[in-house]
Amino acid sequence: MTDIERELVIVSLYPRDMNIYGDRGNVLALSRRAEAQGFTPRIVEINPGDPLPDTIDIVIGGGGQDSGQGRVALDLATRADTVRGLADDGVPMLMICGLYQLFGHRFVTHAGDELTGIGVLDVETLGGTERMIGNIVLDTDEFGEIIGYENHSGSTHLGPGSVPLGRVVQGAGNAPDAGAEGARTGNVIGSYLHGSLLPKNPAISDFLIGEAARRRYGSFTSVAPVNETVVRARESAKRRPR
Ligand code: GLN
Repeated sequence: MTDIERELVIVSLYPRDMNIYGDRGNVLALSRRAEAQGFTPRIVEINPGDPLPDTIDIVIGGGGQDSGQGRVALDLATRADTVRGLADDGVPMLMICGLYQLFGHRFVTHAGDELTGIGVLDVETLGGTERMIGNIVLDTDEFGEIIGYENHSGSTHLGPGSVPLGRVVQGAGNAPDAGAEGARTGNVIGSYLHGSLLPKNPAISDFLIGEAARRRYGSFTSVAPVNETVVRARESAKRRPR
C-alpha cells in the first residue's frame, strides 16, 4: 500500500451546533494537512443522534453558544464511555472552547445551569461576566509558539489529571490572569483558541496526524513543509492588538 492510499478517518463532532469563529476551518486545515502528509482523509460529521463510524483516527470539535452546548451535552453523555475508551486508547483529539468545556467534568453557566461533561480532561469551568476576547500567543515546549484567537466567558480550572497546553505570552487563557491556556491529558487537547487554530499552527495538525498514523499504521514521518502563507498569517495575527 502506498502512503497516498492510507486513509485517516476524522470525526468532526457536532459541526451543526459547535462551529463558531471559524472552527470548521480546523477540519478543513486538518484534512488538507493530512493530504500533504500523504494520507487520504475521510471526514465524518457527527451531529446529535448520528452513529459513530467503526474506525476513528482523529476527533475534532469546536465551540458554540451556551444553548448549543446544552443540546450537545445531552448527546455527548450517551457516548461518554465510547469517547473515554477512544481517549484511553490514544486516539488524538482536539476540542475547542465549548467542547473543551464539555470534555471536562462540568460547565456551570453564568446563569447557574450546570452542564455535565464527560471528564476526559481533568478540568471544570465556571461561566463569568468578563469576556476574554482577542488575539492570543502561547509558548509551548512541544509545539513551539501557538497563535490563536480567544472569545469566552468561561474560566477553566485544571485538576492534577491534565496539564496546560501552553504558557500565555499575550492574552488571558484559561481564566483572567491564569497564565496558562488549554489542557491536555494523553493525546486529548482542549483549548480556547479559535481563529481557526489549525491553519495557523500546522505543528498541532501534525501532532494529531502523527499520533493517528502511528496508532493505525505503525509510523509517521512528516514530509510536508510549512508554507509561506502560514508563516505570514502567523506574523500578521501576532502583530494585531487584542
Ligand atoms: N459559552 C462558552 C463561553 O463563553 C463557550 C464559548 C465558545 O465556545 N466560544 O465560555
